[in-house]
Amino acid sequence: MAVVSEEQVLKALGTVQDPDRGSDIVSLGMISGLTVKDGNVAFALEVDPGRGAALEPLRQAAEKAVDALAGVTSVTAVLTAHRAPPKLGGDQGHKGHSHAAPAAAPPPRPAKIGVPGVRAIIAVASGKGGVGKSTTAVNLALGMAANGLRVGLLDADIYGPSLPRMMGLSGKPETSDGKVLRPLVRHGVKVMSMGFLVAEETPMIWRGPMVMGAIQQMLRDVAWGELDVLVVDMPPGTGDAQLSLSQNVPLAGAVIVSTPQDIALLDARKGLNMFRRVDVPVLGIVENMSYFCCPNCGHRSDIFSHGGARAEAEKLGIDFLGEVPLDIAIRETSDGGDPIVISQPDSDHAKVYRMVAARVWDKISIGGGRTPPRIVID
Ligand code: ADP
Repeated sequence: MAVVSEEQVLKALGTVQDPDRGSDIVSLGMISGLTVKDGNVAFALEVDPGRGAALEPLRQAAEKAVDALAGVTSVTAVLTAHRAPPKLGGDQGHKGHSHAAPAAAPPPRPAKIGVPGVRAIIAVASGKGGVGKSTTAVNLALGMAANGLRVGLLDADIYGPSLPRMMGLSGKPETSDGKVLRPLVRHGVKVMSMGFLVAEETPMIWRGPMVMGAIQQMLRDVAWGELDVLVVDMPPGTGDAQLSLSQNVPLAGAVIVSTPQDIALLDARKGLNMFRRVDVPVLGIVENMSYFCCPNCGHRSDIFSHGGARAEAEKLGIDFLGEVPLDIAIRETSDGGDPIVISQPDSDHAKVYRMVAARVWDKISIGGGRTPPRIVID
């Protein structure tokens, strides 16, 4: 049977005109959270709440356009109020049996589908780029592995995948059946990244909906095997892609990475609010580039008003997980493919990451009713 692609779906949706706005619904940026899985297509049509129910015919036209494609077995389109979280994924429903969501009262969220064999998925997120989110995700994952857990690392930062470089990995994941990819393994951690499939220098201009599709694929079509925890390096920021990811992936919790000045500027708060909106527990904040250690004399200076995240976390009632200084050794080791937890396991920084890792595991393993695995602390 023909396999339908996201491109084909978007092309079909591009033929549907919004009669009031004189253009098609794709060009108008109304499609969000597109997921295409085994012929099941789901997406949200973002509409102005004022137009609400009047757009039911448009929703039906969108469903019909996709339905006509070869290889489509079900289509679910929902109307969602502009900027409200779209209802997506999971329950793709029955062909032609979806309903418009009233803008004022969103329907209950569909059950999120877990990844078989993976006990907990956590997100590492930040309010904006460049705060050290990927560096933290990598060292946190390695810290968890060092603590005796079976760990996977998924690079969902597909705008700028940096995990292959930070984990010192290159090459392509292999497949034995043409369907499921085997993750690459380094330092005992299984890694999957868009960066393995596309060259690092290739400009990737991803549309929000495609981001979700790619991430769903990396979650479900990768042989993760048995894992205690899968660490997801989120795309930076709190836009639609991040929102639909947090909404569709069954996250046990999220770790927010922030620099002291960024929390002061409220960027990190946006991250907190986003997870709260979609009922994902925020496990705590890691303050990165917290203070500066002079590589020559070891002198410590607080260039970014150190301590901001701890104070802010207290104010917001969120756990403060730890602080990591701005240190050239952290940059060199992660940019060189042997992050500090691996290359300098006895350093203070490695200890901080292992401690953060232990705190995070503590929080997700309690409450989930899981038996904790052995944690080796030497
Ligand atoms: P993000 O994922 O938030 O965009 P990255 O983790 O890619 O940020 O970090 C951006 C740059 O800053 C990288 O070159 C990284 O090595 C460096 N970096 C991150 N954290 C630290 C730190 N604590 N000390 C020194 N350099 C750091």
